[in-house]
This record gives sequence, C-alpha cells and structure tokens, in this order.
Amino acid sequence: MDKPKITEQTIWDILNTVPDPEIPVVSMVELGIVQDVQLHDDESVTVKMTPTFAGCPALQMMQDDMRDALMDAGIKRVEIKVVLDPPWTSDRITDEARQKMADFGIAPPHKLHGKTDGAMIMLMEKPKCPFCESGNTHLENPFGPTLCRAIYYCDNCQQPFELFKPL
Ligand SMILES: [Zn+2]
Repeated sequence: MDKPKITEQTIWDILNTVPDPEIPVVSMVELGIVQDVQLHDDESVTVKMTPTFAGCPALQMMQDDMRDALMDAGIKRVEIKVVLDPPWTSDRITDEARQKMADFGIAPPHKLHGKTDGAMIMLMEKPKCPFCESGNTHLENPFGPTLCRAIYYCDNCQQPFELFKPL
C-alpha cells in the first residue's frame, strides 16, 4: 500500500500539533511563529519560523520540537530557518489561540493593529482578568516569569494573573 502523500498542508497540520514550550495549550502555528513551509519532495522540507521575542530562550527547544514532530511523521530532511525580518508581532496570534490562552489563565495580548508601542498600549488599556473577565485589574510587575509576560492583579476576584505582553 502506498503511504499517504505528504503535502504542504500535511506539514502545517503536523506543526499545528506542536505546542509552544511555554504555553502548551497553543501550538506554534496558532501563535504565528511558523511563517512559511516549503516542501521540496515528500522527504525534505524547509520551515521558516520567527520566534516571539528575539533572544527567546525557548528558541532551540521550539526548533527541536518541530524537527522531531516532522521526522516522526516520516520526513527525512528537515531544515528549520529562523527568520527575524519581518519581526513577529502578537497580532499574529489567532483568535482561537487567544481564547485558549485565557482559558489557561493567561490574558492574551492587546491587539496592536499596526501600532508598535506595545508597552504604551499595555499601560493605557487594562487587560481583562482571564478568570472572572473583570476589567478592574492593575499591573503588579511588568516583568513576569518569562520575558514575554507581565504580572497583573485582579481587584475583583483578588487573584494575580499573567498577561502575554503585546509586541
Ligand atoms: Zn478576576
């Protein structure tokens, strides 16, 4: 029996099962980290990816996880190219992934709509608490457990929560 033909869509589908190392409820595809997929023949593929933050400590892990998933699916040669231009922006995160993030307890980033000053938008617009959806929140610490997260406190349900910083 012939094995099923591998197409670029197959590659996207496989990558869509690879979770982000820091927020495992969303995939790298949903975060908009995967920029492009090129299938050369059904045994070799090039994946272009853009990390969320330049100097992201999870970069190596992301590359390894994607390579492993593709090789497990029978692709023999996997090249992962890191592309920094155009830079990643949090607006690339899909709406579905934003919802999953909120369900996981992390407030999704504000939409920037082309504006570049994420830090300013963060100060001007309070994020909604992912637990009770109240807007009655305040910034506790702009530097959370990882580079890309800030810590907020909900004055309604009295719980701290993290915000994925808009970028
Ligand atoms: Zn709350």
